[in-house]
Amino acid sequence: MNEKPTTSPSSPSDFIPFTRPSFDEATIAAVAAVMQSGWVTSGPKVAEFEAELSRYFGGRPVRCFANGTATMKIALQIAGIGTGDEVITTPLSWVATANVILSVGAKPVFVDIDPRTRNLDLKLIAAAITPRTRAIMPVYLAGLPVDMDELYAIAKTHHLRVIEDAAQAFGSHWDGKRIGSIGDLVSFSFQANKNLTTVEGGCLVLNNASETALAEKLRLQGLTRHGPDGMDVDVLGGKDNLTDINAVIGIHQLKNLPAFQARRVAIAKLYFELLKAGLKIASLQDFALQLPPENFTDSNWHLFQVLLPLQQLQVERSQIMTALKALGIGTGVHYPIITNFSLYRKFGYLPYTTPVAEVIGRSILTLPLFPAMSDADVKRVCSAFLLVLQQHRQASA
Ligand SMILES: *Cc1c(COP(=O)(O)O)cnc(C)c1O
Repeated sequence: MNEKPTTSPSSPSDFIPFTRPSFDEATIAAVAAVMQSGWVTSGPKVAEFEAELSRYFGGRPVRCFANGTATMKIALQIAGIGTGDEVITTPLSWVATANVILSVGAKPVFVDIDPRTRNLDLKLIAAAITPRTRAIMPVYLAGLPVDMDELYAIAKTHHLRVIEDAAQAFGSHWDGKRIGSIGDLVSFSFQANKNLTTVEGGCLVLNNASETALAEKLRLQGLTRHGPDGMDVDVLGGKDNLTDINAVIGIHQLKNLPAFQARRVAIAKLYFELLKAGLKIASLQDFALQLPPENFTDSNWHLFQVLLPLQQLQVERSQIMTALKALGIGTGVHYPIITNFSLYRKFGYLPYTTPVAEVIGRSILTLPLFPAMSDADVKRVCSAFLLVLQQHRQASA
């Protein structure tokens, strides 16, 4: 819940959240039309959305699911990963990444991250490979992909599958190619905060017809149909299908995506400009705030994340967030590291085995970025943020 601002005249209506989805009138009308059509769950709109996504990803097969978590779990099942297998991944992600590995009976192996990209440090992967390693699951945090050439070279050398957690990377690129149009199994999320949303949903880019058939079975109880009345179940599937109501939202979001992306890029550029200028003022000159990698060729600017220099602050991140909230600015934390969660501690994981991620998990902060933000909103966020940093920094030595 938004607390009532205490130190500013902001009213809840001018509160800037860290993200907000954009739906146009055409989307709302299309949802109403599906509701009136007599068929609301998985049907023609899902098929249409999948066909459009397949075109978007250069003709590769695509299947949709109820959410990104189910999508990743099914990707692991398609890759044949289960009990006793190890999957290499990053501790700096949404917990879903590791939860799905556990849920198929496999073991997440956490490798530390690159302090600049905040993604898996690919140089550390070889040392983490054991005879049980079956796959690498990279996460494109904030929409920035890892070095795909290096990633797939490692996978090839060690005969590993790659399940890309591209939940945040819809619309991102590598070497001029869309993420999803290349690679092995590529999983996206359409959750409400993502660059393209179906409210909840996800899709998997697959390699061939047999994987696609298995994906269809796994998302609906393991079912195959033959003729008008024939049914069989030969694998254990779940209930992870996307509905036509969600799919029609996705069809419209795909039309809006170029405009959304252009706006995200413009906002990110304005952030760099204003924050760099702001950090030059006398009281912040030696303040080591770290901006994200300034990448305008690959990233889809899903999030704009800074790293707070905690040693130069008198307070913790939570107090910076509270102070910003009082000024009408929402922020987020993406993410505290997974190995710090009780469940993972119980399995014996220790946050300090990935020291770079451990520090970044404590210092990372997401500033507002969404297509409907105005330039004035970005300016307001930057002024408030710079003010709060000045108020809470340690006195210079
Ligand atoms: C959103 C997200 C997911 C999970 O997607 P859901 O659709 O919420 O299940 C997984 N990994 C990352 C990195 C995400 O950001």
